[in-house]
Amino acid sequence: MAVEKAERARLIQLKDIVRRYGEGEGTVHALRGVSLTIGSGEMVALMGPSGSGKSTLMNILGLFDRPSSGCYRLGDQDMTRLSARQQSALRGHRIAFVFQGIHLLPRLNGLANVELPMSYARVPASKRQESALRALDHLGVGSLKDRYPSQMSGGQAQRVAIARAIAPGPDVLLADEPTGALDRKSGEMVLSAFQALHQQIGVTVIIVTHDQVVAQHAERIISLEDGQVIDDKPVSNRLVAPRSIIGGQA
Ligand code: ADP
Ligand code: MG
Repeated sequence: MAVEKAERARLIQLKDIVRRYGEGEGTVHALRGVSLTIGSGEMVALMGPSGSGKSTLMNILGLFDRPSSGCYRLGDQDMTRLSARQQSALRGHRIAFVFQGIHLLPRLNGLANVELPMSYARVPASKRQESALRALDHLGVGSLKDRYPSQMSGGQAQRVAIARAIAPGPDVLLADEPTGALDRKSGEMVLSAFQALHQQIGVTVIIVTHDQVVAQHAERIISLEDGQVIDDKPVSNRLVAPRSIIGGQA
């Protein structure tokens, strides 16, 4: 997870990514040639109207899907040349996800929820617990390790879900509308967590959002329209989510 400053210029490189669904007259061009570079430790917001290709792009970045053509490099590896087995080994490990719905398992406490993906990945038990506790602490929810999801607020549960995503030490965190289902205060907690992750431990954070205010918490906003990048610029008046909220009980 440690990232050298010199590498910051290029963690993710996309070149002419095209994704088509179907064939012939019914072909849908979800992505029409997307080229981008995202640096290590950057926090980026991906915006665009419904149907513009945001989820398609996230699925390709997350190795859930392959482009019809084009090149995707992560670090020094060409992701499009990997086998399905090699891709699934990277998924969850180098690349983590947070989705809109919080999918904590109701019968497991906070700690066990965070440990679970690492146990599937056969991380040894002692290392698993250490990484899980560290991730919960990073998100300010160490005190929730023994609580069950029904005993957590929406914002707390989302932070435990983020702890679960980052516990294996990924380079990249992908989040599709991570604040969409949360109230404003819980949403701010999540944004504060993302800002801390990219600033303090150098995780590259890519968030899909419809919300301009959410996007203003990133360093850079990339806008998609009809499967193409139509705008890509730094955020000039970046918002900082209140840090004191981390560790709060809301
Ligand atoms: P967004 O997330 O920005 O709303 P999507 O990436 O979900 O956009 O979709 C981009 C375009 O690709 C849309 O026209 C959508 O209907 C189409 N699309 C997405 N997934 C599929 C699929 N599995 N089969 C056919 N068309 C799809
Ligand atoms: Mg979508």
